[in-house]
Amino acid sequence: MVLECKHVWNYVSEFLDNSLPTKTRELVQKHLENCEICSAILDSTRNVLILTADDRVFELPAGYTERLHARLAREIDAANRRPTQGQD
Ligand SMILES: [Zn+2]
Repeated sequence: MVLECKHVWNYVSEFLDNSLPTKTRELVQKHLENCEICSAILDSTRNVLILTADDRVFELPAGYTERLHARLAREIDAANRRPTQGQD
């Protein structure tokens, strides 16, 4: 089973919570090692959680997910337009 980016995004909060089943966690971890986009998402989500943890509020700001996904869609689109290197 290969995880796609959009699957990983669904797992990000559980990944940070350590609430994923070990097998899923390993798949996500593997994907993150090979995907700059998803590891950037993980980092920014973690930063948001750290910021909000001060108030013991663990919900993301309203609209955050929508904005994040819109941004991701643009970044992935841009990445797909880039000519691939080292591949023929
Ligand atoms: Zn990815």
